Amino acid sequence: MYILVNEGIIPRSSFSVDIEDRGYQFGDGIYEMVKVFEGVLFEWEAHLQRLFRSARELRITISMNKEELTEQVQRLIAIEDLRDGYVYIQVTRGVASRIHHFPEGVSSVLVAYTKEGKEERKEELAGIRVITTEDIRWQRVDIKSLNLLGNVLAKQKAVEAGAQEAVFVRDGMVTECSSSNIFGIKDGVCFTHPANHLILNGITRQVVIRLLEKVSLELEESPMKLEALYGMDEVFITNTGQEVGPVIEIDGRKVGNGDIGVYSRNLSIEFQRLIDSVVPS
Ligand code: PMP
Repeated sequence: MYILVNEGIIPRSSFSVDIEDRGYQFGDGIYEMVKVFEGVLFEWEAHLQRLFRSARELRITISMNKEELTEQVQRLIAIEDLRDGYVYIQVTRGVASRIHHFPEGVSSVLVAYTKEGKEERKEELAGIRVITTEDIRWQRVDIKSLNLLGNVLAKQKAVEAGAQEAVFVRDGMVTECSSSNIFGIKDGVCFTHPANHLILNGITRQVVIRLLEKVSLELEESPMKLEALYGMDEVFITNTGQEVGPVIEIDGRKVGNGDIGVYSRNLSIEFQRLIDSVVPS
């Protein structure tokens, strides 16, 4: 098993994390997870843009430019002979004595590894149960940072309640979920939170927004009140791993009649079509 560390590809067994890596001590870093279908990186350009944007926002300098990183990640996929799975990429500010402010003369540490495996998407096919919880996270969740404790605690709460996802509510308004974005459909209009500092602008979210027209849905990027979410005809979540995940229950209440809705189903079909169109046949 090989991994990418800065500009080099090395055996995973020969790599260790320095105890003074700021990612390890402060969560001072960023990441991306990118799906690979038939050896092809899905929506790579969008993930690359978001990684470099996160880095800019935190003033972390990535040692490679976009072309070099693309080349190295593709090399890693080839070496690992990855067909279907994902690539995880992480960049931390680097290794330094433990001080809070940015240390001087430190180089960032980029690591990437691949994971083989096709997801079965059982939950997405059966419908997802969610709970709601207060959004206690900081106000820059548009940055895909390693600080995920608010998300971890929310997901754990969902799991303990027998649900699969936790929906965040901030000041009575639905923002996103612990590891996904959320959409609600009412009378042919598809609502989702605008891409500002209160949500991560998911790559899957952006793809689904492009697909709305194909299923005759209108887009309305405005936050939903929790009460409005309960009353939606259909609700679905999106993320890289799950793609379009229809929600059938929120806080124990059925969404619509409790079955997966037609729009959600059609969006899943369109999403699969898009994947099929980018992978070599
Ligand atoms: N919001 C949060 C908090 C997430 O962790 C994720 C998954 N990374 C998403 C939204 C969805 O993002 P994407 O579609 O890029 O996976």
